[in-house]
Amino acid sequence: MPRFSPTHRYVADPKVMSAFQPDSFIVANVVPSPNFDERDGGRPPDIVLLHYTGMKTGEAALERLCTGASKVSSHYVVFEDGRIVQCVPEEMRAWHAGVSYWAGETDINSRSIGIEIVNPGHEFGYVDFPLRQIAAVISLCKSISKRRGPIRADRVLAHSDVAPSRKQDPGEKFPWELLSDSGVGHWIRSAPLKIDGVTLHPGDRGEAVARLQRGLREYGYGVEESGHYDDATRDVVIAFQRHFRQARVDGVADPSTLLTLRALLDTRPVK
Ligand SMILES: [Zn+2]
Repeated sequence: MPRFSPTHRYVADPKVMSAFQPDSFIVANVVPSPNFDERDGGRPPDIVLLHYTGMKTGEAALERLCTGASKVSSHYVVFEDGRIVQCVPEEMRAWHAGVSYWAGETDINSRSIGIEIVNPGHEFGYVDFPLRQIAAVISLCKSISKRRGPIRADRVLAHSDVAPSRKQDPGEKFPWELLSDSGVGHWIRSAPLKIDGVTLHPGDRGEAVARLQRGLREYGYGVEESGHYDDATRDVVIAFQRHFRQARVDGVADPSTLLTLRALLDTRPVK
């Protein structure tokens, strides 16, 4: 059974789970999770997937991620003060993505390293991410890239990018710009909100909607090119805005959203 240290930090029972050596020296401590298995496909992971914990406290989230019955885990948890805890060795598949899709692939757990960032999330009072926490996330991403070979900038993703109809995390407060400033992730300054042009709305049909879907799909999002701005398309537009056009997250493909998508496609890194 789990036990609690005098500081109320969750620690695994050493008799139940054996600790492992952390993958990086920037890890403060290892709290092993039983929730992992072998990666499928025989290729090393080349996606970094960012989450928020979405629970009232980081310690409660860590406990859940390290309890067998929850069937969820992540490789890392980054606390508000920048403390990094590792729960699953990078070579193993942690269970954080769930049903998901990116750029033709559906087993995102096999393809990725998962980082849970402590924040109560939309359900429990979404707050700004402290700078110390973001600095730790940046250091961790750089450490992963340094040790494993470069992770392509456009494969540092939000959970909401790969599961847009189910997930909101890490959400529109997550400072992708700061990561980009430090060389982590693909991000550009979004086009201004007030510019002229065509706006596409949920419910619309036609070639312009198909073009939007094609663009989103080309970037990696899981959306069909049906020419119908259906609920799934709206969810993907919302996910896109949470990541790339945070000033307004409403699922409406306004000119700013469309231009930002175009600029991202034009600047994405080549393989
Ligand atoms: Zn998540």
